Amino acid sequence: MTDIDGNAVAAEIRDGVADCVETLKRAGVEPALATVLMSDDPASETYVSMKQNDCEEVGIDGIHVDVDDDAPAEELYDTVDELNADDSVHGVLVQMPVVDQVDTRRVLRSVDPAKDVDGFHPENVGRLVAGNPRFKPCTPHGIQRLLAAAGVDPEGKEAVVVGRSDIVGKPMANLLFGRGEGGNATTTVCHSRTDDLASHTRRADIVVAAAGIPEFITADMISEGATVIDVGINRVERDGESTLVGDVAYDEVADKAGAITPVPGGVGPMTRAMLLYNTVKAASEQHGVEIDLP
Ligand code: NAD
Repeated sequence: MTDIDGNAVAAEIRDGVADCVETLKRAGVEPALATVLMSDDPASETYVSMKQNDCEEVGIDGIHVDVDDDAPAEELYDTVDELNADDSVHGVLVQMPVVDQVDTRRVLRSVDPAKDVDGFHPENVGRLVAGNPRFKPCTPHGIQRLLAAAGVDPEGKEAVVVGRSDIVGKPMANLLFGRGEGGNATTTVCHSRTDDLASHTRRADIVVAAAGIPEFITADMISEGATVIDVGINRVERDGESTLVGDVAYDEVADKAGAITPVPGGVGPMTRAMLLYNTVKAASEQHGVEIDLP
């Protein structure tokens, strides 16, 4: 069994992004990512500050706007409008989930598609489905890169995606069955209403687990030698201590899988690296500066 090292692959991508930042700066462009938070959820606060630190590390200008979680929704929409109109900002990301008074769909629609580095605007979703993506959503794009780094070409293989969310499951399936490098797999999407999940996962050469249920993919559910990508991040109590586990029962599945991503250190770092990738891509397209994307 091979452990697929997300930290190592992400570090390579970050190095390549840092080179792109240099190229952009030589051409007079200071790439900038704006994050917007309207929530008092400590996890969201942590995610945003991690994204800001990641920006700093590769030389991207990180701008953060906090919108009071008691404020009217208009304040968030106005903030996004201002960032859209600001030519010195290349990527705009509203950290999800937002507070209840905000219409999530309206927020996703309000980000300028050219600055939508998460890839969640309906125009960008449409382009992905049409096979002409502008920004691939960060988590599935990162997984595509992990598969490539592990020498796993999905072409012609059976892939099973467990989960049909807008941010992971759906875009993942589109990338896996889509044409081109990292695609061309015969792809099944399973979800909460799937009957006999194991009968699908057992057939798969590639399993992507993104259901958000701790350790629910067990060894009997996968075939010998399969590639198992664990997207889940679940906080659980173990021996009186809080710890992170994935959606895959790592120890038992690792014995049977051909390759597997650990949690932490698998998909998570890739998601973060691909956000930086999308940000320099956005800056390069907005200013017509050619860069050599990693
Ligand atoms: P979500 O809750 O939006 O979607 C979960 C999906 O799982 C749903 O589509 C649902 O139909 C499916 N599901 C639920 N129970 C199921 C079952 N018994 N059998 C089959 N399918 C079932 O979650 P999400 O946002 O897609 O995230 C999934 C997990 O991935 C979470 O643990 C989340 O924290 C994690 N995540 C990790 C990263 C990362 O960078 N590593 C990024 C995004 C999400």
